Amino acid sequence: MVETWNGLTGQIDRSNNSRADLHLHTTYSDGALQPKDLVQQAHAAGLSVISITDHDNVGAIDEAMEAGKSLGIEVVPGVELSVALNDKDIHLLAYFFDHTNKKLLDYLAFFRYERLKRAERIVQKLNDINIPLKLDAVLDQAGIGSVGRPHIASALLEEGLTGTYHEAFMKYIGTGAPAYEKKYQLSPNEATQLVAQAGGLSFLAHPGKYTTDIELSTLIQAGLDGIEVVHPSHNEARQEFYRGVVHQYFLLECGGSDYHGGKKNDDQVLGVYTVPLEVVEDMRTRLFS
Ligand code: AMP
Ligand code: FE
Ligand code: FE
Ligand code: ZN
Repeated sequence: MVETWNGLTGQIDRSNNSRADLHLHTTYSDGALQPKDLVQQAHAAGLSVISITDHDNVGAIDEAMEAGKSLGIEVVPGVELSVALNDKDIHLLAYFFDHTNKKLLDYLAFFRYERLKRAERIVQKLNDINIPLKLDAVLDQAGIGSVGRPHIASALLEEGLTGTYHEAFMKYIGTGAPAYEKKYQLSPNEATQLVAQAGGLSFLAHPGKYTTDIELSTLIQAGLDGIEVVHPSHNEARQEFYRGVVHQYFLLECGGSDYHGGKKNDDQVLGVYTVPLEVVEDMRTRLFS
């Protein structure tokens, strides 16, 4: 993929103005940027449609839409949900739902509450193995956002309790590590139904190379509308593979940078991992015609 914008030099290639980035995070989950600042950066990167897909949180959407209006960027309602499939943590991206839908908002609030309880359990487990992390340090990292393991890893790093962010996952909080705790998750069926009743479409996020054929077909049967094809974790061959699956099952595709505002060594991804606007039009067609 050709790099069209460099966040460090600020060089812009306006050929991006027929491109969309449908996977972005803000301070409402584990991103570093406030919604309006992210919209500003997306504009500088030449994008014309974006979706903010915070984990279990739609709090950024109104502010982003407002900022988008003045800059001429369309903001599509989005969210990233976690579902459990045979104990595996699978991420779904949802788009074009009514972000004031009461049932959806109630569920998201419940997921965030469960995330907080889980953060408390993780901190307790860390303390039990003599890692003196305080919950407050985690909450400082999370701010207004949905609390997640990224905030715990950042807090461990900040407090000098881990050498690197990744080491925090490997030694303490990753799957199977001593302070690992599951989070509350819906089944794939329940999640796609929750999104559908709010008028939206559900996509399998970054399936990468770790999603087996059986898992893929189970998820498709659970009511997925599409698959995230373009993502920094997908090389060209992966993209082609998932594009093939999309065509085979009459699904839609989506894609984006999964940009966290530079928080995860991801300064270079904005404006680079994009999809054409037809992708967004295909979603609208499926929903509204
Ligand atoms: P949570 O939703 O709180 O379980 O956090 C999941 C997030 O943690 C993922 O979206 C990744 O950003 C991050 N993550 C999970 N496993 C790892 C890992 N082994 N190394 C680095 N980041 C990870
Ligand atoms: Fe994230
Ligand atoms: Fe994800
Ligand atoms: Zn994401």
